[in-house]
Amino acid sequence: MAQIVSLSKRRGFIFQSSEIYGGLNGCWDYGPLGVELLNNIKQAWWQSMTFRDDIEGLDASILMHPKVWEASGHVENFTDPMVDCKECKARFRADQIDESKCGSNAYKGRKASKCRDEGKFTEARQFNLMFKTFIGAVESEDAVVYLRPETAQGIFVNFNNVKDSTRQKLPFGIAQIGKAFRNEINTKNFLYRTREFEQMEMQYFVKQGIDTEKYEYWKQNRLNWWINYGIRKERLQFVPHPQSKLAHYAKDAVDIEFDFPFGWGEIEGIHNRSDFDLSQHVKFSGKKLEYYDDETKERYIPYVIETSAGASRGFMAFLCNAYDEDEAPTALGKVEKRTVLRFHPKLAPIKCAVFPLVNKDGLQEVSHGIKDDLQSSFNVFYDESGAVGRRYRRQDECGTPYCVTVDYDTLKDNTVTIRDRDSMKQERIHKDLIKKYILEKLF
Ligand code: ATP
Repeated sequence: MAQIVSLSKRRGFIFQSSEIYGGLNGCWDYGPLGVELLNNIKQAWWQSMTFRDDIEGLDASILMHPKVWEASGHVENFTDPMVDCKECKARFRADQIDESKCGSNAYKGRKASKCRDEGKFTEARQFNLMFKTFIGAVESEDAVVYLRPETAQGIFVNFNNVKDSTRQKLPFGIAQIGKAFRNEINTKNFLYRTREFEQMEMQYFVKQGIDTEKYEYWKQNRLNWWINYGIRKERLQFVPHPQSKLAHYAKDAVDIEFDFPFGWGEIEGIHNRSDFDLSQHVKFSGKKLEYYDDETKERYIPYVIETSAGASRGFMAFLCNAYDEDEAPTALGKVEKRTVLRFHPKLAPIKCAVFPLVNKDGLQEVSHGIKDDLQSSFNVFYDESGAVGRRYRRQDECGTPYCVTVDYDTLKDNTVTIRDRDSMKQERIHKDLIKKYILEKLF
């Protein structure tokens, strides 16, 4: 994990938020490569959801009417049990620690760098994870609004709007990507548990009776999505929620977990939420949120199958999955260690790098021409500094799948070498075919 965190900073994937002020706990900034990777992940998800007839997109606002969160149960129930170590004052989620010892690094005692206190914790108290703020000029209780802790509620409250404006028939879904905020008690493991993060959620509305079939369909569909974008099967697992631990409204729930360097962790949840959410909003808003079936002449509140993936956690899973170390030949016929990010080409932040072999005799001009042409279709990086081997190493660390080198033969016959990041094999192709060659790998 330490190597991945350090590479992330060195290459401009992830920076600590407000770093020059010492950072802000649980918040991270996506650097130049990070934002490209994140956008590519979101775009891959968005396309897989909305490039089909039965799913519509939505982008609801982060601030919503406070009644939304009463109806959803978040005001009352979106809490975690919190305890403090009486010795060092470190704070924990009661359900996530071994209460027999503290062991916090926060302890600055004279004798130990870690708190060795044994089990002296305060009683657990419930802590609501929603960030509260005020709308308008007056900071009074009736001006309270929340930063949304999930994107799903924006979908539920727009059910009628989307259904009526698109004339979708059941079953159909609504997809949304957006920021969510949770005032987590303990943030940890880099991007895994943060206070500000992005979710990619889809709510699929179905008639009761076909909900189990659609739940199974979405479980498989979502697992395949992660695999199609390069996550190795053996690093993914389904973890069903036992019936005894299901939320009172949920009929079924399963997590997709990824094998992170620190252990297995959830990256997505798939839930059969019954008709709970729409029914709650009917109760609290007084508005009808139902579906009229023209054929059977029935009117009912649909069930919902939810797929809820973390874009930020997914980003971290893709990064950990891509990270690899192997050996590469040097110009002197030796081998050297290389770090390589083996991203799926569609997710890679930069698709291709272009290098002139030497910085003279017109090779730079030809290289610039190739770069300009490719850049109209995807993200390209031009590099003329240092030995070509060094330039390859830099691009390997960025996860760039293809590097094109322009040499003296290019001047004679318009061919270039194109080098594959993973196999390190080089092929000679005509420079006019580079774009087609790379685009074929992206789709
Ligand atoms: P956890 O048990 O890890 O707190 P959760 O079950 O509360 O997660 P959900 O409410 O199902 O998570 O949220 C759906 C997805 O949103 C999760 O699978 C995860 O990818 C992402 N997510 C949730 N909380 C966070 C967070 N604090 N930081 C980053 N991503 C998060």
